[in-house]
Amino acid sequence: MSKFWSPLVKSLVPYVPGEQPKMANLVKLNTNENPFGPSPKVIEAIQSELNDSLRLYPDPEGESLRQTIAGYHNVKPEQVFLGNGSDEVLAHIFYALFQHGQPVLFPDVTYSFYPVYCGLYNIEGKTVPLTDSFEINPEDYKQPNGGIIFPNPNAPTGRYLGLEHVEAILQANSERVVVVDEAYVDFGGESAIKFVNQYPNLLVCQTLSKARSLAGLRVGFAIGHPDLIDALNRVKDSFNSYPLDRLAQAGAQAAYEDHEWFQKSCEGVISERERVTKSLESLDFEVLPSKANFVFARHKERSGGSLAKELREKGIIVRHFNKPRISEFLRITIGTPEQNDALIAGLKSL
Ligand SMILES: *Cc1c(COP(=O)(O)O)cnc(C)c1O
Repeated sequence: MSKFWSPLVKSLVPYVPGEQPKMANLVKLNTNENPFGPSPKVIEAIQSELNDSLRLYPDPEGESLRQTIAGYHNVKPEQVFLGNGSDEVLAHIFYALFQHGQPVLFPDVTYSFYPVYCGLYNIEGKTVPLTDSFEINPEDYKQPNGGIIFPNPNAPTGRYLGLEHVEAILQANSERVVVVDEAYVDFGGESAIKFVNQYPNLLVCQTLSKARSLAGLRVGFAIGHPDLIDALNRVKDSFNSYPLDRLAQAGAQAAYEDHEWFQKSCEGVISERERVTKSLESLDFEVLPSKANFVFARHKERSGGSLAKELREKGIIVRHFNKPRISEFLRITIGTPEQNDALIAGLKSL
């Protein structure tokens, strides 16, 4: 702490990202990166942008990429907002749309960035407990609020909420913005984007970090009613007009144009997820049903903390959250078949 810090900075509790260790040959299953890598067409598109045009600012609106994403999701370009990773999009959402003097609701077990944004922007947050089986109950979201946000599938549980339940939350909260953070939706869920023209209070957030294997490029977006997108643009243009650089815009566009790669990569993750789930169950783990590129599992006897530590000694990194309700769980990213084999072998030897 320093005397130069603002009172707000003194009070901040920042987000702690999963570690990115520098050691070689790790089996890295801790940050939900996609093991199959980006499409070769993405690499080509980025390489073709590596020229003198880098002296010029990028398109501040990302017009071409917005058109591509809008076409893919069957909405209008003015319904798409782009950001430097969906984390940035989420930050702008909190600032632009959640300041209503009432608490923002989110699950007690969820993406830990939400309470951090509340702290940054001085917004009151209120956690809503998941059920005993770690599911979202729409009935619990029928209470006064300043906005609602939840991931679907949820993280770190991996559990997916059927769209009829998402609709129930939207209908019960027509005076507030409901944000569905769909970082993992392509691994077996169905997107709520199809509701955006029906519900002007719905904003859906997605990222290219997970299913499109571009965590290093930093591209995310939100889709919703143009009025909501306008609000986000007002914040963006008061903060940083160029959140997506030229390479990111070119690479992201190419990722959307290679549908086959995307589909194969999602199918690969899903089939490995089913295999890892069965193996874990045969080793006496309880595994929550997952529609994400990770599983959330606890062992019937061994503690989550000690398993994570012992796996680490074998060069296998998984995520353990020392938090109420979930301290016995491990969140394990689905890796390549070889990485998953190493995980299972490592667990067997413990
Ligand atoms: C990974 C993740 C994000 C962030 O994605 P970026 O686009 O890489 O910033 C947002 N929400 C949830 C729930 C995530 O798991």
